[in-house]
Amino acid sequence: MKIAVLPGDGIGTEIVAQAVKVLEALRSDGLKLEMEYGHLGGAGYDAAGDPFPAATEKLAKESDAVLLGAVGGYQYDNLPRPMRPEQGLLRIRKGLGLFANLRPALVYPELVNSSSLKPELVSGLDIMILRELTGDIYFGQPRGIRTLENGERQGFDTMHYSESEVRRVAHVGFNIAMKRGKKMCSVDKANVLDTSMFWREIVTDVAKEYPQVELSHMYVDNAAMQLVRAPKQFDVILTGNIFGDILSDEASMLTGSIGMLPSASLDSNNKGLYEPCHGSAPDIAGKDIANPLATILSVAMMMRYTFAREDVAQRIEAAVRKTLQQGLRTGDIAEAGMQKIGCAAMGSAVVAAL
Ligand code: NAD
Repeated sequence: MKIAVLPGDGIGTEIVAQAVKVLEALRSDGLKLEMEYGHLGGAGYDAAGDPFPAATEKLAKESDAVLLGAVGGYQYDNLPRPMRPEQGLLRIRKGLGLFANLRPALVYPELVNSSSLKPELVSGLDIMILRELTGDIYFGQPRGIRTLENGERQGFDTMHYSESEVRRVAHVGFNIAMKRGKKMCSVDKANVLDTSMFWREIVTDVAKEYPQVELSHMYVDNAAMQLVRAPKQFDVILTGNIFGDILSDEASMLTGSIGMLPSASLDSNNKGLYEPCHGSAPDIAGKDIANPLATILSVAMMMRYTFAREDVAQRIEAAVRKTLQQGLRTGDIAEAGMQKIGCAAMGSAVVAAL
């Protein structure tokens, strides 16, 4: 297992250090893995004058998986757009062809009170949102701002999905559903958009290859409503780039704690980039108070999806649950009156629980 480790900026270095402790513990237990560090985002700009330096690109391409912290920081806010940290993130996703973005929304029994919804609505919640990541209106051409013949200015973007783009992400979705509750809901806006009508037709066609999976379709406005009305009705949600962007953020807040949410972005060979859903949190960087669990849980996803080591994935997830059961909490997930521990102490607690 060759893993590129890109801590990035802000709390990225602190949380990735904890995930690396977990990987080192697994290595000393016999797991054969290699890690090599690189720079991304502001760290890339500082080291090489580029948020996605050539050396990082080479490292990422040669590795089986990438572990990323987060990018971004106030000191980079005034750089020209191509030099901004976030460009590094977009370029690495695109450069590695990572078209399938997986974001689980899982509520741990110990954290059920952190959700903004009533405990009975979210207790036991376990949803997987699969968002197509490299197509749709975010990448469609033409786009821009133009002046019409009558002199009025107009902003415009283009939404499109090609058949191969829909097929490949649909296959990923059905394969994930097969390993979970065998239920998938494809979310679109087929009552209004031609792109969505086409999406629905292709997903329905791919479904014929997965007769054990129960496929349903839902309009995105209804899905947004159902996610806060009765979120436990969902198992896997498959959707396009723009709808997935919005729904995955909505679903993540059902769990109440951004510091707990991992993600995976995969290519067609299950090579992947694994990162927490949150950003570089410059407001708390350098204070040893960030929650490293989202990053550690991203390593569990790496074991599951890139290395097909379900056993190791479950071992990491069980260790995280055990630390929560022991009452250990970083500040973001602590309830009133609970004792808080720091980022490094939380990493050590997970290693001990392993
Ligand atoms: P953010 O996710 O960094 O922070 C939002 C809030 O959540 C902050 O109050 C922060 O302290 C808190 N938080 C985030 N992660 C936490 C953790 N692990 N433990 C405890 N608290 C945590 O979002 P933001 O403030 O909007 O953005 C900050 C920077 O991060 C910006 O430069 C932005 O562009 C960048 N960003 C990067 C990514 C990424 O690398 N994937 C994603 C989102 C934002």
